[in-house]
Amino acid sequence: MRWTNLYKARIFHEDEGKRTMKDISERRRPYVLVSDFDQTLSFNDSGMVLSELLGTSGFEEKVLGLARINLVQQGAELSYLLLHDPEYRRVRREDLVEAGRRIRLKHNLGRLVEILDHGIEGFQFSFFVVSAAPEEIVQSALLGIIPPDHIYGTRFQYDRETGEIQSILGVSAGYGKVAALTEIQSRLQVGLDHVVYVGDGSSDVHVMLHVNRLDGYTIAVSENKYLAPIARRTILSEDSLSVLVPILEDIVGFEPSRIRSLFERHGLHIQEWDKVRTDFLTIRERPLAASA
Ligand SMILES: [Mg+2]
Repeated sequence: MRWTNLYKARIFHEDEGKRTMKDISERRRPYVLVSDFDQTLSFNDSGMVLSELLGTSGFEEKVLGLARINLVQQGAELSYLLLHDPEYRRVRREDLVEAGRRIRLKHNLGRLVEILDHGIEGFQFSFFVVSAAPEEIVQSALLGIIPPDHIYGTRFQYDRETGEIQSILGVSAGYGKVAALTEIQSRLQVGLDHVVYVGDGSSDVHVMLHVNRLDGYTIAVSENKYLAPIARRTILSEDSLSVLVPILEDIVGFEPSRIRSLFERHGLHIQEWDKVRTDFLTIRERPLAASA
């Protein structure tokens, strides 16, 4: 286990009956939390929000059609439409930024980033976002919460004269998420056993298998039938802070009572906490074999 990050904190301590302030240095275990964006940190897909802004219809059908033929990696459908579909060809950088402004984020994302960064004694989790959505949309939606250099999204090249999208520079969907994660790891010098990945959809399958295989930790925030069985834990909530619960239980090693008191120290209260194990079953009638 590497103990590299040093941080300084001022604490109160009892010294022969006198309460004084003292500077302490503490070593903190560095971790990286990498999160998907669409429907993990937000409520609706970026593509839906952009389509509403453009006034186009049939986005879902187009995405389903592309997914059915597996032309692009799962999650990269919007990027494909932006490059090839006549209705989406008119999108410019400003439209993506505006769509980002309109995205409704899950509650308390700023607090989650803050607590992960310096609210858990002995641990520091750096927060990164890896999304198949256009980088401009994600950066604009997370403005003031996550710095742009902690966001990896799909990147486009624009025509200087017309502002039109000319080509795709890189897509962080499917296996592209593994590539982005590898880049983050080499930037921060953190092994996969100190990576937490959070996601909700089929575009996260590759990266979750990769993180699990090398002792990282994975959290699904949906009951997606391909993802939930792969993820170490599944958490369903409209509040981003909910992902703290499995992290505190399984990585930090807190008991439920300590988790509740950490939330309370931040002025929060866990109102409902139901643990259920979900089995997905489809049962059909089968004709009985003819008796001999
Ligand atoms: Mg998603």
